[in-house]
Amino acid sequence: MINNEDYMMNIAIVGAGLVGRVLALNLLKQGHTLTLFDKGTKDGTDAAGFTAAGMLAPFAELETAESVIFDHGKRSIQLWRDILKEIGLFDGYALNGTVITAHPQDMSELDHFITSLKRKVKAAEDIELLGNREIVELERDLEHHNRAFYLKDEGYVDSQRFMLFSTNYFDMRSEVTWRENTLVDKIESGAIHFNGEVEHFDWVFDSRGLGAKEHFEDLRGVRGEVYWLESNDIDITRPTRLLHPRYKIYIVPRGNGCEGMDMDYCNECKISQTPNSKRYIIGATEIESEDTSPISVRSSMELLSAVFTVNPNFGEARIVNSETNCRPAFRDNLPRIENEEKLTRINGLYRHGYLLAPAIIEQALNEGIYK
Ligand SMILES: Cc1cc2nc3c(=O)[nH]c(=O)nc-3n(C[C@H](O)[C@H](O)[C@H](O)COP(=O)(O)OP(=O)(O)OC[C@H]3O[C@@H](n4cnc5c(N)ncnc54)[C@H](O)[C@@H]3O)c2cc1C
Repeated sequence: MINNEDYMMNIAIVGAGLVGRVLALNLLKQGHTLTLFDKGTKDGTDAAGFTAAGMLAPFAELETAESVIFDHGKRSIQLWRDILKEIGLFDGYALNGTVITAHPQDMSELDHFITSLKRKVKAAEDIELLGNREIVELERDLEHHNRAFYLKDEGYVDSQRFMLFSTNYFDMRSEVTWRENTLVDKIESGAIHFNGEVEHFDWVFDSRGLGAKEHFEDLRGVRGEVYWLESNDIDITRPTRLLHPRYKIYIVPRGNGCEGMDMDYCNECKISQTPNSKRYIIGATEIESEDTSPISVRSSMELLSAVFTVNPNFGEARIVNSETNCRPAFRDNLPRIENEEKLTRINGLYRHGYLLAPAIIEQALNEGIYK
């Protein structure tokens, strides 16, 4: 182990997706020199971190997750604000709560949800139950709903803009070298194998997500599909989840464009949007498959019919994009850190990458390179 924290290292990060980028931002703060390898382009659109809705939902995720996800999630929420400030993404983060609702015939889903949360963490005792009046006060366009839970300390990161802003930031830093379109075949202690060559570094980070299957035998992909919708008639300001026995969906607002928008196109982050409309990410399917081909008809029907029942005005929304990707997961669906001499591997963030990455990376660095 290298014990001197002030020793500036020549570090390689393999996989510049979500984990690789948060790692890079952390390591740059310590003054290290970085080389970022990715098999895709540096804009990051191949990464699951680009497809993600970016929800920071330690409570809402507890229904199907362990309480360790809750603890890391709470810590990550504290860390995200500074990470985004560093890359100049000031309006790419919101922490104004999540609304969890269900149709009148599915009230047992809401009961099951709150019971399982209370069984896992004490803090769930304080979750607020809303009636129709309180729901409308919070979100006018959820007026058709009579009962909901409000998880006030949750939020989201604008994941697409996180990827774009971090690319721009790394481009400006002379300590960062990009090796995009570079498929790494194998990673060993302090060494990277690619294109028939071996390159050596003081420390190597393996953050290849699903691309690390050559090392992790029990790593699998879980397919997720999302739609991007735009509407002039819907104004939902918080992540909203509809519980349903078969078609659970979430609606995550993406605002109405960036400050730098010139008409319908943001010159800064290269995202286009119809003027005056609001954008939403609707997701996500969860399918035990590593197929990343386009969204299926079945998934489309499920996601779109479910969102239409949340508010019929979604019927006139425009479908501007759909994305498919795979969440990297282990059998227990928990994240894994492996530290050895000159090598750290971080993987298995499953459906919790944004929720967990800053806290998991903090832990990985403290147990590895900075130990
Ligand atoms: C539909 C969907 C919705 C999601 N929503 C949320 C959400 O709301 N909240 C949340 O917290 N999480 C969410 N997630 C989960 C989150 O996106 C993942 O947990 C996270 O992206 C995993 O990060 P990663 O860096 O390990 O993998 P990735 O982000 O996939 O990055 C891996 C990178 O490694 C590169 N790579 C792979 N193999 C190689 C190789 N051999 N050589 C070089 N480069 C390589 C890839 O090109 C990629 O850029 C969602 C995921 C999906 C698919």
